Amino acid sequence: MGTKKLIDESSLYVMNTYKRFPIVLRKGRGMKVWGTDGREYIDFVGGIAVNILGHCHPKVVVAIQKQAQRLLHVSNFYYIEPQIKLAKLLVRHTFADKVFFCNSGAEANEAAIKLARKYSKENISPERFEIITAKDSFHGRTLATLTATGQERFQRGFEPLVPGFTHAPFNDIDAIGKAMTKNTCAIMLEPIQGEGGVKLPDPNYLKEVRKICNENNLLLILDEVQTGMGRTGRFFAHEYFGITPDIMTIAKGLGGGVPIGAMLATDKVASAFQPTTHAATFGGNPLVCAAAIATIETLLEDGFILDQCNRMSVYMKERLENLKLKFPALIVEIRGLGLLLGMELTIECEAIVKTCLEMGVLINCTAEKVLRFMPPLIVQKKDIDHLINILEKVFERLP
Ligand SMILES: *Cc1c(COP(=O)(O)O)cnc(C)c1O
Repeated sequence: MGTKKLIDESSLYVMNTYKRFPIVLRKGRGMKVWGTDGREYIDFVGGIAVNILGHCHPKVVVAIQKQAQRLLHVSNFYYIEPQIKLAKLLVRHTFADKVFFCNSGAEANEAAIKLARKYSKENISPERFEIITAKDSFHGRTLATLTATGQERFQRGFEPLVPGFTHAPFNDIDAIGKAMTKNTCAIMLEPIQGEGGVKLPDPNYLKEVRKICNENNLLLILDEVQTGMGRTGRFFAHEYFGITPDIMTIAKGLGGGVPIGAMLATDKVASAFQPTTHAATFGGNPLVCAAAIATIETLLEDGFILDQCNRMSVYMKERLENLKLKFPALIVEIRGLGLLLGMELTIECEAIVKTCLEMGVLINCTAEKVLRFMPPLIVQKKDIDHLINILEKVFERLP
């Protein structure tokens, strides 16, 4: 079926929840994807920070093929081999002692919210259920996670929202103090706000939040759904800031392209979940766990991918900074860590994204004026050079 026909059928049959570009992607390898129109694109969106190893990484593909032949799905009424192996791998490389598996970022955050409430009610005070999150944060689209999300535009029309969430401006320690009540049980933050415009924490912000949590018996929940899995050049972004959370959520990059999420916690906190308190039918299913194991093994044990990410981060920032020198009236700031990079513009960037796509490069725009780059961590200099050339051409043509 041709591209136009496919797009027509999409509007006929698929619910209209996405603002989509008029291409249909059919195949991918490494940094590249191909459309049904036969066109080739270089992908700096990477499935929104999902395809950390690039498209169809052979180790992930083979792991999926092997597992698909052995066992696709069984209930969590039984023990699942790849699930145990994946949990062990995550525990070995993080602060956490225990892992709960689910299918997405929002679901991981739901699990975190439920665990924080249950732990605090049972161990600190039955009155405790409130969670402080940041303004401009993004935590997902389920009712609780969109309430946690500090942006009204995602909430409008879905009221009444879930009780018990307050929002404090990001990077404002005093505001957290003011938002706190005797019923607060947790503070939930993205270490770097991704969807909110690639906003970095001030150097001591997370340390001070950790201190407030310790002094007031609050749990610190870090949403590393976007920043985790090597995206920022370390396995997890909080490693840069000298703290560990009590609960951490991950998803996006975890499965190298398959839908899997996880909520990790210390033993102390995890003990509030007992048999029957929380569940997910597909959570930690053999197929997705096999993909995630292959992804993590490739990311950490082959060793060079995080190095590559860090080297390319330096190179890409340098090239983007050079563009900023060339277009000072257009570019406000380049920021980010690893390969989660943002370029804030003085104008809305929707049209720029569209022109780049027409010129064969996929990029993303968030928070209206921020170009967000989340390429696979295997990106090479030649890909970055290509992106910069295209951006330069597009910027030159702007009125
Ligand atoms: C993408 C994202 C989510 C939601 O993940 P889904 O898999 O879309 O539910 C939650 N938190 C952050 C920080 C994200 O970037």
